[in-house]
Amino acid sequence: METEHKILISRIVACVAICGLSFLPALPAWAYIATFALAYAVIGADVVYRAVRNLFHGNFFDEHFLMSIATLGAFAIGEYPEAVAVMLFYQVGELFQDIAVARSRASISSLMDIRPDYANIEEDGELRQVAPDDVPGGSVIIVKPGEKIPLDGVVISGESSVDTSALTGESLPRDVSEGNPVVSGSLNMTGVIRVRTSGEYGESTVARILELVENADTGKAKAEKFMTRFARYYTPAVVAAAVLLAVVPSLVSGGNWTVWLNRALIFLVVSCPCALVVSIPLTFFAGIGGASRRGILIKGSNYLEILACVGTVVFDKTGTLTRGNFSVTAVHPEIISGEMLVELAALAEMYSDHPVAVSLRSAYGGQLDKERVADVKNFAGEGISAVVDGREVYAGNDRLMSRAGVEAKQCEKSGTIVHLAVDGVYMGHIVVSDSIKPEAADAVSGLRRSGVKKVVMLTGDRQDVAEEVSGALGIDEVYAGLLPADKVSRMEELRSSGSQKIAFVGDGINDAPVLKLADVGIAMGAVGSDAAIEAADVVLMDDNPLKVAESIRISRRTLRIVVQNIVFAIGIKLAMLLLGALGIAGMWEAVFADVGVTVLAVLNSLRAMRA
Ligand code: ADP
Ligand code: MG
Repeated sequence: METEHKILISRIVACVAICGLSFLPALPAWAYIATFALAYAVIGADVVYRAVRNLFHGNFFDEHFLMSIATLGAFAIGEYPEAVAVMLFYQVGELFQDIAVARSRASISSLMDIRPDYANIEEDGELRQVAPDDVPGGSVIIVKPGEKIPLDGVVISGESSVDTSALTGESLPRDVSEGNPVVSGSLNMTGVIRVRTSGEYGESTVARILELVENADTGKAKAEKFMTRFARYYTPAVVAAAVLLAVVPSLVSGGNWTVWLNRALIFLVVSCPCALVVSIPLTFFAGIGGASRRGILIKGSNYLEILACVGTVVFDKTGTLTRGNFSVTAVHPEIISGEMLVELAALAEMYSDHPVAVSLRSAYGGQLDKERVADVKNFAGEGISAVVDGREVYAGNDRLMSRAGVEAKQCEKSGTIVHLAVDGVYMGHIVVSDSIKPEAADAVSGLRRSGVKKVVMLTGDRQDVAEEVSGALGIDEVYAGLLPADKVSRMEELRSSGSQKIAFVGDGINDAPVLKLADVGIAMGAVGSDAAIEAADVVLMDDNPLKVAESIRISRRTLRIVVQNIVFAIGIKLAMLLLGALGIAGMWEAVFADVGVTVLAVLNSLRAMRA
């Protein structure tokens, strides 16, 4: 338990003990009052102090202020035990709520317990533990079974299976051996592996995720911003109403001053918005925490709020709905041999990260000589040009061929076509095809079940390939043959044509501008991809499209809990106000209701974290 909590508990105990003194027989009146004054000072001094301090800072009205005038007022009209009790229960409520907040923060952070403590490096044949920060990129580290992998890298020897569940929510471990990449933050389970690190700790996946999680509450939701604005008018209004309640009825009816003053003070206690002030941010925090546990990182509660009311989801095709693992299905050369065609394509695509490029390199299979390639230019959405062995090579789609001024042969095979031209002469084409992710169809129908009205697909690929995919998945609208800039203008059109919030789901390759433009940009398969983590508002750690619907469901549920808390807190407060004004509920009941509502709202908030 934290020291703050311990101190508060001792103050509560001391306060109760001092109040006990008031039962001493034959206590003179001044001693009776002094006992409660002392008890009040023990339990409430800090609240009054804060209220006064805030007054000087121009923050006239807050919960401390409400509590201070309510209790000091009670003292003034001779309700000494009541004044102390209000403060006491208020502090008990604060204690409960602090503990709940601390617990939930701790459990969320422990879920994100992926920060590696050390890395093992080998020095003179002995293992030495050093801070991950001190390991330069390109070093060799050794990871033993049961240890967290501290840095991103590639396995250079050994075999093991790694558990990435803390990052992705995916519980199946993955087998790795020589040549496979491993990601920091995952757990090495079975064997000793040697890993060559690909960069420093600061650029590692784990460092970037932790940074994201730590900043997750910087984006405030509308509901939270509203609370701040609301409090600015609410508290003064409540104080004004209390003053009227204290003064007007007794003036009009010439009735009993203390009765109405007492009712006004009850009114003040009941009006304290603590339950809302505490539970709304906590609910968002719990929702974001629960999502991150499933490999869904939401960068702020504002995005969670938008996700909850998304009406249209726009997917990028390659790497999002399809695996993005192309394989070569046909080679149709002209003039030169098929082997040469593939070799030229692989050389030209040497530096590209595009999934098509990756497939061409793996189809070639051999070593690529850097010396042979120069002047590489990337034409986003079209392909690549490069100077290979001193000759100008273009590799890409029809559009790229017209740019190069070369007539491309048409191909009747289905798939993505990579045409090649060398020094202005057409050399043939290579057909590569991708396959649809097994979860994609369920992902689309899952979206409809969670209330999404329209599902759209954008792609730079050919119309026939696009239609094949969208037909198989039941997508409503398809736009094919788009350049990255066309995707941006399509997104603008979609945004202006409807009032629905739009989510865009992409992999961050060629689509970062669209991710930024969407109401909420969701990047998929982000373990290892920097561009996507930067540009997106929501990051799905693995590339499973089912997570899109899951993130919407989590957001809806979180917002539902926020609304429940608002309705519940305001409902109880209104009822208490009425009972207080009628003289049915007294100060004690008002305090109980206030503390009770806050504690229940906090407990309800924590549900947002569960599955
Ligand atoms: P998508 O919208 O499906 O993600 P892109 O915008 O990345 O596709 O690319 C659109 C099309 O441009 C691809 O289908 C391919 O025909 C061509 N293309 C893009 N980059 C390359 C490349 N590096 N090599 C060959 N063709 C490419
Ligand atoms: Mg793409």
